Amino acid sequence: MNQDELFKKVISHAKEYGFIFQSSEIYDGMQAIYDYGQNGVELKKNIRDYWWKAMVQMHENIVGLDSAIFMHPTTWKASGHVDAFNDPMIDNKDSKKRYRADVLLEDYAEKLRQKANKECVKAAKRFGESFDEAMFRETNPRVKGYLDEAQETMTRMAKSLEAEDLEDVKALIEEKGIACPVSGSKNWTEVRQFNLMFGTQMGSTADGASTVYLRPETAQGIFVNFLNVQKTGRMKIPFGIAQTGKAFRNEIVARQFIFRMREFEQMEMQFFVRPGEEMKWYDYWKEARINWHQTLGLGKENYRFNDHDKLAHYANAAADIEFNFPFGFKELEGIHSRTDFDLKAHEEHSGKKLQYFDPEINENYTPYVVETSIGLDRMFLAVLSSALREEKLEDGSTRTLLKIPMPLAPVKVAVLPLLKKDGLPEIAREVLSSLQLDHNCQYDEKDAIGKRYRRHDAIGTPLCITVDHQTKEDQTVTLRNRDTMQQERISISDLANRVEELVSIKNLLKP
Ligand code: ATP
Repeated sequence: MNQDELFKKVISHAKEYGFIFQSSEIYDGMQAIYDYGQNGVELKKNIRDYWWKAMVQMHENIVGLDSAIFMHPTTWKASGHVDAFNDPMIDNKDSKKRYRADVLLEDYAEKLRQKANKECVKAAKRFGESFDEAMFRETNPRVKGYLDEAQETMTRMAKSLEAEDLEDVKALIEEKGIACPVSGSKNWTEVRQFNLMFGTQMGSTADGASTVYLRPETAQGIFVNFLNVQKTGRMKIPFGIAQTGKAFRNEIVARQFIFRMREFEQMEMQFFVRPGEEMKWYDYWKEARINWHQTLGLGKENYRFNDHDKLAHYANAAADIEFNFPFGFKELEGIHSRTDFDLKAHEEHSGKKLQYFDPEINENYTPYVVETSIGLDRMFLAVLSSALREEKLEDGSTRTLLKIPMPLAPVKVAVLPLLKKDGLPEIAREVLSSLQLDHNCQYDEKDAIGKRYRRHDAIGTPLCITVDHQTKEDQTVTLRNRDTMQQERISISDLANRVEELVSIKNLLKP
């Protein structure tokens, strides 16, 4: 399966097995809006729990928050979203398709990098063991040409966007000969800025109504509650506030399935630190977050850091953790050193002090903030796309398998009576009720046992318990492992411990 085929398969599998549906599908759907089905909602919840436990439960100085989606409109003026939360867009006059100008250029640079990588792979084959890739990248004229051009393109784009020189962004697209993927033409409009916030009216009469926004990030709910939490929780700096919840962005280009949605969920943590100590904590959180990802076992080679050249107006350092999605390496999480920009801006706009008295140094100050911000839906896509595989079995048949990390699997245990008679269903239901308080379990008695195993492989169920005639004699069942397909015979009285040992989230979160 190549990457394109894999991605198509992920999308169709997600629908067929109740993970993700297009929103309002019976009305032909809405672009870039999706619903999570019976298995999707469980996987999403488990990823959220994994994050929450790692961030809140495992850190004594981090607490949670659930702030409202609607916030006072001045919030968004203070945060800069009203004036600066724009994406540069460009239209192709022939296809009438709209693109993000920066994404067109990023894709162009990525293609150059891929060409350089291909040359390296070819050379590695040619030179065998003596091949020194780092040296080759620096000295081979063709490879160096590709990489330099990619870098120059990104640097010039960052500079032009920073200076709001949209004419130069268009000039760059033209110079690079970038064509519309749909029409193939280079007939572009000017580049324009487009604000990504959704606005709506609050209040029952048109006169008294005021414009409010659906929050484009959860972070601001944390900033405006900084003192509430600090005081009532008697928090001492450094400390963090974590929150998960919906965010809304009127994205210009809706594509790549749940990677870029107009309604999505974020998991954010703002860590408040003493001014001057932010870089220490920035490094700390970069490392902590990459470890959290890598512990899942989706392959270390599938992650990389992208340190930003172009910094947002609020940041003094920023990096993305990128994941190798089926469509290439793309941002999964951002780690930003936001200075005191947000708290200061809210102080200014609200006229309220948002300061902290630090008893250790006997000083009042506005804390600096290091944030970690990850999209839950993107994380979902990372897990789902790296889990899906088709395996050839010894007997020549194939099985479709979702090798989701076991603690995240939507259904942990399937309990299956071998036959629908002889008292086996009754025993199976007893087994089910002994486990279902601790784990999401399913009872399934329809179809032959092989078919039921396949069905659970396809939704990623790590364990199948089968109740057979021997169970009636010696109180044992078989426990089948999704990945190895090995079955062990185990006493019903040992089941709870064994299941816990295999699927517990503790396997991921050991201190
Ligand atoms: P991008 O450059 O891909 O638009 P961003 O840099 O604007 O993302 P942030 O504002 O840093 O993203 O948001 C933090 C996280 O929220 C991102 O790392 C991503 O995982 C997630 N996210 C942002 N926009 C979307 C979206 N439209 N759909 C799904 N997830 C998103």
